[in-house]
Amino acid sequence: RICYVNGDYVAEEDAKISVFDRGFLFADGVYEVTSVLGGKLIDFDGHATRLSRSLSELAMPSPVTRDELLDIHRELVTRNGIEEGLVYLQITRGAADRDFAYPTDAAPGIVLFTQTKTLIESPAARAGIRIVSLPDARWGRRDIKTVQLLYPSMAKMEAKAQGADDAWMVEDGHVTEGTSNNAYIVKGSTIVTRQLGTEILAGITRNAVLRFAREAQMKVEERAFTVEEAESADEAFVTSATTFVQPVVSINGSEIGDGTPGPVARRLREIYIEESRKAGI
Ligand code: PLP
Repeated sequence: RICYVNGDYVAEEDAKISVFDRGFLFADGVYEVTSVLGGKLIDFDGHATRLSRSLSELAMPSPVTRDELLDIHRELVTRNGIEEGLVYLQITRGAADRDFAYPTDAAPGIVLFTQTKTLIESPAARAGIRIVSLPDARWGRRDIKTVQLLYPSMAKMEAKAQGADDAWMVEDGHVTEGTSNNAYIVKGSTIVTRQLGTEILAGITRNAVLRFAREAQMKVEERAFTVEEAESADEAFVTSATTFVQPVVSINGSEIGDGTPGPVARRLREIYIEESRKAGI
């Protein structure tokens, strides 16, 4: 597998960065994950735009332009022969003497790699996933896509220890989002998902799915919802770049609907995949 490291395409054994890199020492870095379907990048523009925003919120310069970034993504997809999978991109502030203040002279570091992954024929999409709710113990700027992912990892492990597949995190009695996805419930014919803010990541898939839902005349409410509301919802689902739309079939052991993937989630998954295939670049 070929990786991209600071300007060079290298074999993965040679893909190395400094121990002084602030991404390693301070989680001082941001990332994006773009899915690949039929060898094409899905919503590259959305991911590039969010990346610029994450960088600017952290006053971190970008080592590449948007066009260069697209070229690197495409080059890696081609060289690694990715038909279905993902491209992972990470930018860190770079290597400097360890100090809490941002260094003024560090050159930002950039790393990309690919992964082959089955996205369409997903067993989890077919069967639906089981969710438990856990406290949201992350930092307060979840709108920035940083590589600081330890709490979501802990929450995922705790969910698995409880016999579930994933966790929805809860703050002040309301669901924020999943460990690596946005969370939705369906009440009657209305799709409910938390409004954007510093409490959640503005999912690129969320943006597309809400647009498709509105175009299909579905009703959408962007507001916070409680765990109790979720447990008694007619349907629930999650979205992310690599899972698209994934139905949720139980929350804290309560069956959602009849305990099988619901029609709204299934339809949105179909629309999302169809539209993404058409729009991939
Ligand atoms: N929320 C969190 C915390 C995430 O980590 C992710 C994706 O990794 C998402 C939401 C979904 O974002 P996207 O649809 O851009 O993948």
